[in-house]
Order: sequence, then structure tokens, then C-alpha cells
Amino acid sequence: MQNRTDLIEDLMARFPGVPKEAVIKEDLLRGGMAFDDSALTDNEDGEVKPKSYFIFSFDHRTLPELGTAALRRPPEEVVLTGGPYDLRRTVVSVRTNPDSPYRVQADADGALRLFLDGRPIADVGLPPMPEYYRHTLGNGKSVMEVAPTIQWGYLIYLTVFRVCQYFGAKEECQYCDINHNWRQHKAAGRPYTGVKPVEEVLEAMEIIDRHDTLGASRAYTLTGGSVTSKVDGLGEADFYGRYAKAIEERFPGRWIGKVVAQALPREDVQRFHDYGIRIYHPNYEVWDKRLFELYCPGKERYVGREEWHRRILESAEVFGPRNVIPNFVAGVEMAAPFGFTTVNEAIESTTEGLEYFMSRGITPRFTTWCPEPTTPLGKTNPQGAPLEYHIRLLEAYQATMERNGLTSPPGYGPPGAGNAVFSVSSFMDCLPPETAPAATG
Ligand code: SF4
Repeated sequence: MQNRTDLIEDLMARFPGVPKEAVIKEDLLRGGMAFDDSALTDNEDGEVKPKSYFIFSFDHRTLPELGTAALRRPPEEVVLTGGPYDLRRTVVSVRTNPDSPYRVQADADGALRLFLDGRPIADVGLPPMPEYYRHTLGNGKSVMEVAPTIQWGYLIYLTVFRVCQYFGAKEECQYCDINHNWRQHKAAGRPYTGVKPVEEVLEAMEIIDRHDTLGASRAYTLTGGSVTSKVDGLGEADFYGRYAKAIEERFPGRWIGKVVAQALPREDVQRFHDYGIRIYHPNYEVWDKRLFELYCPGKERYVGREEWHRRILESAEVFGPRNVIPNFVAGVEMAAPFGFTTVNEAIESTTEGLEYFMSRGITPRFTTWCPEPTTPLGKTNPQGAPLEYHIRLLEAYQATMERNGLTSPPGYGPPGAGNAVFSVSSFMDCLPPETAPAATG
């Protein structure tokens, strides 16, 4: 029987155009990794930056099922190098799965390594605790809770609304655990602010600005659940926009401002831009019409797929096509019960969506689906999508970009294997290094 080592080596051989680093990274993102207790952090009191649970759980088990890893968090990310595949520096977001064939533990020489099927395949570096995490806000809240950073410190991730107003089976996206993740953190007694006050966000960013002496943080993302009625008396554009306005007034141009929101009408999108946001992510989630209707029932009901796409194109007139970067969740198109059953069909459909946007100068990007166990699709597809799908998607993405004369999108740090810091998908690891736009990198 083929083990995971056979699987990745087979794919590395069959798809030489995809860096081998990306093959391992995608497999870790779709299936998670296990941690020996000795590789866990001492939470916010140690030398290693802990997993912040910045929006979704991105774990393959619930907190109560994670054992020690729920008490002593795993690191936010790991960086892989060397080993038998001679890996270039590869930053990978941590998705915990105690049953994964990938395991982080100390080798006989005491050095931390990534083991696959019991064999060491990479040296593991852990993110150092950033100086700004050692400071707290005036009210005692931690910077990690209010303004965590990911992507090796590049991106400040501001989930200012920790729940989504698409609620329950008839509205929540079928792969999303934002609402469950909020409940489980509350149940565990962890601090997990539902709506982050603007002043707290500004205070946390002030601390980051002061102590990020290496200047690693280059961008922030404002995000959270969809607002279908009001939060703090505000509709979605004004709710998320008020943070952008306050940040840009206090720290003009210090970071590249991005917002992840629904595909909103033009006047709302214009307000984001007027507040100083430079990159807009109206995520279209999955391209296929039937799957969008089934797997994103709230988005279909409140906006509708065709209108969503029309608004994405319209927003390019406000932000410029290069700065509209809608996300999709790579892998859900193969999720049972309604997904494609062959990799060919799934790639064909997804590529059609890429072509639709890229031919108009808009560069979508994707995160690799993590089948979280409390979501409907995670329950029916605990193994996620086939690894071959993820590898062929990287190939299709590269080819579609090239065909349309596009280069790596702004606000994602440097592209190329060995350079990329984007941690929840390998798409940046697979792009040519020379395409980095210096002004926005
Ligand atoms: S819109 Fe969908 S993916 Fe986004 S937070 Fe709500 S349920 Fe989750």
C-alpha cells in the first residue's frame, strides 16, 4: 500500500514544475501535523510565538480533543529547510492533527525535525516570540489576542468581528468554523473578543509599530464574519471601514491596508478606498455555480453568485484590478457529497474561474482547505481533497497567470520558493522570484 512518502515522491516526480517544497507544504496544510509535547510552546510566556487562532481554528481536532496541545499551544508557523529533499526555506501555517503521518519532534541529536512516516524530512525552525507580544494593552489584553501577526510577522491579522452573521446550516459556508471556533475558545475560558474596540486595535498596533524594530510587519488585514444586519449599529462597510479610517489617520501609510469583506455595492467599496484601504478581498470561495449555491448558502441568499462576480469586477474600477484579490478555498470543489469526483473536473472548473478573473487583470488567490471537524464538509471529508488536486491547481494557477501576463499580487511579501512567507497556501512559493513588485513587496 502506498504510504504518504510514496505519494509525495510520486507527485514530485510527476510535476517537476511545482517546487517540491510546495508538495510538502500543501500536504501539511490539507492534512495537518502532529506535535511531540517537547515541540509545543509555553504560550505567551516562552521564547516561541504561539498559534493565535487568528480567525478559524485551522485544526483537525476540537480544542478538548487536542490534549496537551490545547494547554500549551503549538507554534503559529514552522519553517522547513534541508533534509533529504534539500528544501529551501518554507514557511507553513500550523494546522494541528494528532493523527497526521507528519510529526514535529526532536531528533536523536536534540534538533527539531519534521518526520514523515517515521523518517526525518526537514529541519524545523520555530518563530521567535516577537518583542511586541511581550507587552500588553493598558486593560491587560495581549497583543496576540487583539492584533496577532502571521506570515513570519509580515501581516497583522485583525479579525475585528470574531463571528459571522451567516448563522446555522442554512447560511454558514459549509467549510467554515468561525462561529464554532468562537464558541470553543469561550468554552475554554480563553480571551477571545467578539467585536474588537477600535481603541484596542490602535493601541495594539502602536505597540507593534514601536517594537517591530526589524520592520517585518508590512501589511494589515481587516476581516471577520459577514455583517448582514448591523454590528455596533453599523452596516458592513462602515463597521470594517471605521478601523481602516482610524488606523490610516493614526499611522498614515505605515502598512498596506487590506480588507476582506463581502462583495459590496460600489459606494461601499469606494468608502473602503477613501479610508485608505489599498487591497480588497471579496472572496468568491468556489467557482462552480452549483457548488457555490450549495456550499455558500448565505452568500447565495443575500447576494447571489452572479451579483457577487459582477461586484468583484466593478470593484476593480475603484481599486484597480491588481488590487482586487478575491480568495477561494482550494479543495472544497472536491468535497463530498456534491463536489467533483475527479481531479480533472475540479481543475477544469477552477481554472475557468481563474481565467474569468485573470483575463480581466484581477488575480485571485487561494487558501488550502483545512477540513475542520465541526464543519459539515469537514465531517464528511476528514481527509480533505486529494493532494494531486492541490499540486495540479498550483500548476494551473501559474499557467493562467502567465497566459494573462500577470505577476505576483501585491501585499503578499516576496514570491518564489525559498522566499515566500505566505503560509496558508503555496501559491507564492510557486511563482517566479523575479516578479516581486519592489514598491509593494
Ligand atoms: S462568510 Fe462564510 S467563510 Fe466568511 S465567515 Fe461567514 S460563514 Fe465563514
